[in-house]
Amino acid sequence: MSRVALITGASRGIGRSIALELAKTGISVAINYYSSSEKAKELLDEIRCFTQNANIYKADVSNEFEVSTMIHKIESDFGKIDIAVNNAGISQIGLFTDMTSNERDRMIGVNLIGAMNVCKAVLPNMIHYKCGNIINISSMWGEVGASCEVVYSATKAGLIGFTKALAKEVAPSRIRVNCISPGIIDTDMNSELSQSDIDELINDIPLKRIGTPKDIAKAVKFLISDEASYITGQILGVNGGIVI
Ligand code: NAP
Repeated sequence: MSRVALITGASRGIGRSIALELAKTGISVAINYYSSSEKAKELLDEIRCFTQNANIYKADVSNEFEVSTMIHKIESDFGKIDIAVNNAGISQIGLFTDMTSNERDRMIGVNLIGAMNVCKAVLPNMIHYKCGNIINISSMWGEVGASCEVVYSATKAGLIGFTKALAKEVAPSRIRVNCISPGIIDTDMNSELSQSDIDELINDIPLKRIGTPKDIAKAVKFLISDEASYITGQILGVNGGIVI
């Protein structure tokens, strides 16, 4: 029986690439999306060209009820969830003082509480079966902080703390919890950047390119593999060396 992975926010960008990469290695994939239903269906069609072991699930990760309903549905469709990748996220550029409390709460809800909702719902079965893998997608801004992305940085720093603490708590059940901290990755999230912004950023990146969603997907593939069986509670920077 193949392993089963839930990837949140998999309709676009990094999550989409993770879903494709895992499906190609024979893992069954549950593709979560929120608003991009057409894109989620396109991804499902692409994956179904080589495996039937995939489906799409709509849920707002910030909503605990929607998440637990989605997880029950995935467990009933596939029998279990072995891997949860908390990738769904939103960003917003602007001064901290200009952000409304609704915008702040929404960002915390999606980026941080969303991961907690998913973990709370998948862990009971992982603990029962004494195996599981959780990957949280943070950001280099969670490590070093970004001006004009203050709340975003705080949510991503929160994910790092959450990863470390949860890794300690569930290690006795042989569940590994790790975090990936991407640098600048070429997705819609950076669509506001102009070419000259990107050139300037590339200048600051030791490996002299921005990252691709596939760079992150490969890191996920490694962390959930047996090659990483002694790794838990760690933050893996995938950033071309911009944060060392
Ligand atoms: P993206 O292209 O904007 O895609 C974001 C994904 O998150 C979409 O699939 C979106 O789904 C989903 N999403 C948003 N709100 C959601 C919600 N409430 N419930 C469920 N899904 C939701 O962003 P990305 O660049 O791929 O980013 C993916 C993750 O990597 C995020 O956590 C981001 O913070 C992190 N990251 C990105 C970068 C970067 O440079 N791109 C760097 C560091 C970290 P719908 O479209 O279906 O709503």
